[in-house]
Amino acid sequence: MGKRFSGEEAIRQLNLRVEKKTQQAVDLCKEGEELDVTYKRVLDYKFDGVWAGRPIYVSRPRFPTYLIIAGAILVIIYQANEMNLPLPYFAVAAAMSYLNYDFFSGILHVALDDPRNIKLPLIGQAALEFQWHHAIPTDIVDKDFMDVIGDLNIAVFPILAANMIVMDYGRNRMMAIFMAMKLLMAYFGQFSHREAHNIRAGKFSQFLQKAGFMISVKDHKAHHQPPHEDDFCLIGVCNHALQVMFKLAGHFQYAWLATFVLYCIFDNYILSTILNHLAVSVGSEDSVETWHGGADSGLPYLYGSVAGMSNNTFAA
Ligand SMILES: [Zn+2]
Ligand SMILES: [Zn+2]
Repeated sequence: MGKRFSGEEAIRQLNLRVEKKTQQAVDLCKEGEELDVTYKRVLDYKFDGVWAGRPIYVSRPRFPTYLIIAGAILVIIYQANEMNLPLPYFAVAAAMSYLNYDFFSGILHVALDDPRNIKLPLIGQAALEFQWHHAIPTDIVDKDFMDVIGDLNIAVFPILAANMIVMDYGRNRMMAIFMAMKLLMAYFGQFSHREAHNIRAGKFSQFLQKAGFMISVKDHKAHHQPPHEDDFCLIGVCNHALQVMFKLAGHFQYAWLATFVLYCIFDNYILSTILNHLAVSVGSEDSVETWHGGADSGLPYLYGSVAGMSNNTFAA
């Protein structure tokens, strides 16, 4: 595409391409034919904060991204330290978070690729952006990486608020760690997706792709073939599992939306519960005693009430 732009100019150029492609689609649309919803939205609607419309590409402020990254790292260090989380459990937690985010990215992607969801409030704009990515696959490389990860930030705050309630405002320390890890994984997911489109991907990215830690160019290309119903996961390791789910329930719009919303609220809670059970079953009484620091410590209240346990392994 000749010259490479960055920052706001890259965003402006992408929006010009949207206009051009929309005009082409209008010109090709014959009498009595219905224009695709992605073009129709650009023509007839302006995004008003609730309902989807143009512009598709937006330059994102960087400060919230830095704040989220710093906050997530601090939460992980603070909570792991407070609960004396042993390193092997920390490593298991990171691996769980990685797998979980990949699976979640697949669910999110199925929901946002559904053209019917463009007409829904709030989520419609994200769906419109996702579907324009099929029309302009290089958009993710053409714009700055900070704008690519900045696209996620609007969603972070409501999800964080819901998670805060479920984690009893940080008293479920393990869940807080999982939530913080998920935020970092979300940025990594954007990186993985971007590198799958990046013809100038560096050696390290190529290594991660070859080793299977990030989705390969080939696998992600499969998603870009119409009708865009393969390889939804952005990191790629969970694609087979997600494909099974998609075969079973591919076109149930509200089933995917409901799964997506419930997943946003409860995934970290479920992960922390699984890790707790694992620790209880593996850990000797001694080690459990050492890292939970006593019965009166901040018991994850949901976990405590659901499992009926008075002593929680990961409370500090
Ligand atoms: Zn897609
Ligand atoms: Zn893509």
